[in-house]
Amino acid sequence: MSGLHISNLSHDFDDVSVVRGVSVFVAPGEVVCLLGPSGCGKTTLLRVAAGLERLQRGQVHIGEAVVADAATGHDLPPEKRGIGLMFQDYALFPHLNVRENIQFGIGADSKERRTWIDHALDLMDLKKHTDSFPHTLSGGQQQRVALLRALAPKPRVLFLDEPFSGLDITRRAQVRQQTLNILKETGVATLMVTHDPEEAMFMADRILVMNHGRVVQDGTPVETYFEPADPFVAGFFGPINRLSGVVADGHVATPLGTFAAPEFDTGARVDVLVRPEGLRLAEAGQKPNQNPGDAPCRPASPVSLTAPQFDVISARPLGGASLVIFRLPTSDGGSMPIEARVPGVFLPEPSARVTVTVNANEAHLFKAD
Ligand code: ATP
Repeated sequence: MSGLHISNLSHDFDDVSVVRGVSVFVAPGEVVCLLGPSGCGKTTLLRVAAGLERLQRGQVHIGEAVVADAATGHDLPPEKRGIGLMFQDYALFPHLNVRENIQFGIGADSKERRTWIDHALDLMDLKKHTDSFPHTLSGGQQQRVALLRALAPKPRVLFLDEPFSGLDITRRAQVRQQTLNILKETGVATLMVTHDPEEAMFMADRILVMNHGRVVQDGTPVETYFEPADPFVAGFFGPINRLSGVVADGHVATPLGTFAAPEFDTGARVDVLVRPEGLRLAEAGQKPNQNPGDAPCRPASPVSLTAPQFDVISARPLGGASLVIFRLPTSDGGSMPIEARVPGVFLPEPSARVTVTVNANEAHLFKAD
């Protein structure tokens, strides 16, 4: 067994259960993201796995070695685990320049590592800053130095806690890509904490979505986004529209269409969750735009697309997309706002009529609470 293996880890603070029976496997070369809301236990799980917090229940393997086992009390300190750590504050040594910071943890300064550092500085666009001190670097440059410092001793496992949160949005995309390149090149097993779904989608081979101390879904980014395990996961990736209906003859009818619901009993109340980008809009009388990613069917696909029409409440540009809110009549005679995010510039006037269809891939059915 190589990589990182966390088995059945639980952790309490002051008798409050913060992590509950979580198991995680990260293979060499894999990036696994722990994704979840603030306080769900992500950082605690990472800190216990890294040895920064004493293990209370469970077991942690790194490579072939058991580095912590609650049953025996064995608990190696972080510096004996063969790991790299990087936190959001970077914690660079202010009195050391870039090269000295990166070399700090290597001990015997081997030729092979010096060659690697030169290569890594190049890869991370830091070559001309080799002799610079941290206070003269931008946030993104400091982040990359901190990453190289964590990777220089060739750790088998790298732990990253919100590594991009200090960067502004324009720098983030580039630094993420550079980080991913070097992680994949080194082949280290990486466990990363983030509360940002887009960041997890970009970085991860697998995402472990956490809620209240438990892993509620473990899947690839595409699986977690398109096949959410429950309404919490579906809603965590961004705003979501919630429709509901009662199952009859294996289908549930909603004002936005009728959906196949073969896995539910007749009479069951079902929530149909649809992301804003799962809706296709067109001016009344026009054909809705089809996105290249739209798939024709999956179990929860609409079986009838009669393209009902609705009144627009507002439409605002978002740059590459437009946010259109329209009014959906409800069965009690009232109405509810529904959000649609459509590609490009689509800005119908308030009170204009739009036709609405649902992308088959983006309607998620769950038994109502
Ligand atoms: P965030 O994204 O906000 O850091 P998180 O998912 O990483 O959240 P944790 O930092 O693991 O969550 O915290 C989980 C819970 O444990 C929180 O309620 C937090 O207040 C509590 N907690 C964390 N560290 C300690 C500690 N040292 N002592 C007591 N309670 C703690």
